[in-house]
Amino acid sequence: MARTVVITGSTSGIGLGIAKAFAAEGANLVINGFGPADEIEANRKGLEAHGGKSIYHGADMTKPAEIADLIATAEKTFGGVDVLVNNAGIQHVSPVEDFPIDKWDQIIAINLNSSFHTIRAAVPGMKARKKGRIINVASAHALVASPYKSAYVAAKHGIMGLTKSVALEVAEFGITINAICPGYVLTPLVEKQIPDTAKARGISEEQVKTDVMLRLQATKEFVAIEEVAATAIFLASDAARQITGTSISIDGGWTAQ
Ligand code: NAD
Repeated sequence: MARTVVITGSTSGIGLGIAKAFAAEGANLVINGFGPADEIEANRKGLEAHGGKSIYHGADMTKPAEIADLIATAEKTFGGVDVLVNNAGIQHVSPVEDFPIDKWDQIIAINLNSSFHTIRAAVPGMKARKKGRIINVASAHALVASPYKSAYVAAKHGIMGLTKSVALEVAEFGITINAICPGYVLTPLVEKQIPDTAKARGISEEQVKTDVMLRLQATKEFVAIEEVAATAIFLASDAARQITGTSISIDGGWTAQ
């Protein structure tokens, strides 16, 4: 039977890439995120090309009741959630003393709290079926810091703690939970922070790419969306059943230093 995969923030970037990878395996999908309705509908349809069914749920990851409805809708439509991918995320770059309070709250809500709410809602069904995979798209910033990203780094470090704690609670129910920690991937989230980073550091936008983003990636290359998606597929496989409560870095050697 086709697996059911819920992916938050899957209308763009890494989340959409993960959705495409699971769709290629014939999975049923619940996609989520913001964007133009016609674009979302085209993506949703495209995800059905391999035989799985795909639905869109517009839950705002800052709203716990909408997040609970996302999981309930997945369970009602497909009979359960086999794989939960917590991917929705935003970024804001600013020195801490100027960091807008509403941006801090929004980043903690979307990048950290939303994963608590999805996990809280999905775990009872997974426990009852004695199987489940939870994959948190964290970041190299779950393991190390950069200046001017206090909220993002705090949220991503928080995700690591959540990953470890829940892993211990659900381990005997056939459920694993892990974090993927990518380095820089050229998605809209990264493109958008280039001008602000240039401003915060007083350098050109090209220098942001070479001297900031790729400075610590030993390969001097951006990570590809498909490489992150392939890791998610592996973590959701039977072969990964003893991998839980940990992180997998895909960062071109960044956190080796
Ligand atoms: P992106 O901007 O391309 O995609 C973000 C997705 O989250 C979009 O679908 C967007 O609509 C959705 N989203 C934003 N706010 C939302 C909300 N309130 N409710 C529901 N959905 C919302 O960014 P991306 O680079 O693909 O990022 C995806 C994840 O990967 C994020 O958690 C990010 O922190 C993480 N990540 C990205 C990189 C990178 O270099 N791009 C590196 C490491 C980790």
